[in-house]
Amino acid sequence: MIHSIDSIIARARTECDRAGVKLTPKRQNILVVLLQSDAPLSAYDIVESYREKFQESLPAMSVYRILNFLVDNNLVHKLETTNQFLPCAHIACDHEHEIPQFLICDSCHSVAEVGLRKTLVKELHDSVRKTGFEMRSQQLELHGICAKCRSEGETVKNPEELH
Ligand SMILES: [Zn+2]
Ligand SMILES: [Zn+2]
Ligand SMILES: [Zn+2]
Repeated sequence: MIHSIDSIIARARTECDRAGVKLTPKRQNILVVLLQSDAPLSAYDIVESYREKFQESLPAMSVYRILNFLVDNNLVHKLETTNQFLPCAHIACDHEHEIPQFLICDSCHSVAEVGLRKTLVKELHDSVRKTGFEMRSQQLELHGICAKCRSEGETVKNPEELH
């Protein structure tokens, strides 16, 4: 990531000020826990990291409440399929936030936030609606194998090609 955590936090604070909400120390600390993690975290992972990093126990209930705040303000996203949280990849961007879509690697558990064209997402929703099914979330979470794991897998499969 190009941006330092400090500059991301400063940025998040500006965004919160603009929205008329407050990035309290606890909210900020939870955001830091997520920014420092390589993979998405469950609420209980966050309770644990928080205790280690800040020598303070937060009840899971408070963590959930704070996560809801961060999600509502587009600073953090929730993966519905795994019940985990990760910081928004566009947290330091100027552009308007789109409906986030996620590519989740089942091998290394890394997650990439991708912007899909709005027309594509709408088309998908329209065809789903035609079946009578109502989608509760506009967020897509696609599971698979990331580029890095795929290339590592190929290396293992073809060791003779390493020379
Ligand atoms: Zn985002
Ligand atoms: Zn962006
Ligand atoms: Zn992977």
